[in-house]
Amino acid sequence: MYHPQDALAAISAPVFKGRPPAAQPSLIHHDVANFNRDQQLFRDVPHVMTSFRKAMESHGVVRDPLPLPDQIPPYPSSIVGASSLPKDVSSLYRSAGAEASLAALERLTACKVLSSNVRHPHSAFALKGGETEGVARLQYYLHGNSEDAETPLKSGPCIRAPQHVDNADLAVASGAAAISTSSSMRGSERVAEMSSGKVGRSASASPPIDNFKDTRMLVGGMDNSVKLSAYLAAGCLSPRMVYAEIQRARQQVGADSGHSWLIMHLVIRDFFLFTALKEGDKLEQPGGIQGKAKQWRHSDEEFQRWCQGRTGFPFVDACMRELAATGYMSNRGRQNVSSFLCKAMGHSWQLGAAVFESLLVDHDWAVNTVNWAYFAGVGNDPRDRIFRTVSQGMTYDPEAQLIKTWLPELKELPGEFAHKPWELEESAADACGFNLRRDYVTPMLDASTQIAVNYGRND
Ligand SMILES: Cc1cc2nc3c(=O)[nH]c(=O)nc-3n(C[C@H](O)[C@H](O)[C@H](O)COP(=O)(O)OP(=O)(O)OC[C@H]3O[C@@H](n4cnc5c(N)ncnc54)[C@H](O)[C@@H]3O)c2cc1C
Repeated sequence: MYHPQDALAAISAPVFKGRPPAAQPSLIHHDVANFNRDQQLFRDVPHVMTSFRKAMESHGVVRDPLPLPDQIPPYPSSIVGASSLPKDVSSLYRSAGAEASLAALERLTACKVLSSNVRHPHSAFALKGGETEGVARLQYYLHGNSEDAETPLKSGPCIRAPQHVDNADLAVASGAAAISTSSSMRGSERVAEMSSGKVGRSASASPPIDNFKDTRMLVGGMDNSVKLSAYLAAGCLSPRMVYAEIQRARQQVGADSGHSWLIMHLVIRDFFLFTALKEGDKLEQPGGIQGKAKQWRHSDEEFQRWCQGRTGFPFVDACMRELAATGYMSNRGRQNVSSFLCKAMGHSWQLGAAVFESLLVDHDWAVNTVNWAYFAGVGNDPRDRIFRTVSQGMTYDPEAQLIKTWLPELKELPGEFAHKPWELEESAADACGFNLRRDYVTPMLDASTQIAVNYGRND
């Protein structure tokens, strides 16, 4: 039986680190979520995400954030170079004696990953690390550039949770589908701008949260989604503190635009954390949570094409090149590239998850692994969906901005042909000075199977 770690060794891929002992802080405390009946923590976590959200409507209570500590203890001496922490990730690799892993990763992706602390000019995650930056980002997302965007770290009290956060409150939050979207529908022009990645911090008239519901699924742009995942994964922000701030902003404006929708996604994050705790070792198995007897294919050459963004499917390739260059990929991109690797190419979801683990700035073992199992068809997706990446790209990158940013070789192609360059007639291709074989690659799979079926925006 093929084992992913062997395959990883064979292709000199980055280190597969395995399951960490504890999960990240959750929004809802597991006690409160009532998952500890019969002393078997997490046994009753529902298998399906919707059921989990509904369970949270009846049981979920978000506790207040804990007060700020007066002081924090020094780094444990076991941390490599604790007295002088490396300034960037590549020096961290070096000080840990892991240059070989870094080199392997760069070979695999054909990209100078992590070798500089200079942020990529096209990154959709143009943010710095640390709590102060995370708080500033949250404030901007909720309040725009208005006066209400206090900096809680300076003004202390505004990170306190509202005093009465109860079941009913969360029920509103996690029942977000039923919430009126009238206020979030007004920003169609802004949505178009965002999909083209033009909206930056200073361009914002209304706070980005107003459009969150409409823009979250788009694949380009800084403000289309909240970009808090890295702060949550690294522990710079706690989900409870984020929740308290969202509630405070909602009370301040007296209306719910994207607030409930954002809280719902924090609840979804809990679903992934709790599922990992519930399923445990199954997540180390090729058959995943479902224990499927699955024989994953393997080909170094094919896998490398996926890693390097050379599959011949522009949406997949743009997302993979963005990941290698910036450490970030949109949620819709992640869903598509994982579905493509596992369901279209038939390759191991554990290999894909390992590559994400090595590259994502927001990597979180539980969230990443359970999501990969989900989209590989060995996890919690009751519908076992397959994403048709061409149609998906045309829906979520309608102007092909993401594609043209990361695949400059397709920049001159007209309209939808940037999504399916193989359909461009020879004369039209000549007119653009484009040759599929010479300038890009022919699709590695039957292109017709990647077109047609599309999924709804909120799938
Ligand atoms: C294959 C795959 C791997 C992923 N790996 C990671 C990972 O390692 N770390 C990680 O933080 N997220 C992961 N995600 C989830 C999601 O893609 C990111 O959280 C999201 O894109 C981060 O951008 P954002 O902060 O702008 O999120 P938004 O879309 O604005 O959502 C707000 C917050 O909700 C949470 N959230 C949203 N969607 C999800 C989701 N599907 N699963 C869990 N939490 C979610 C995140 O904390 C996020 O910051 C993965 C998704 C897939 C499909």
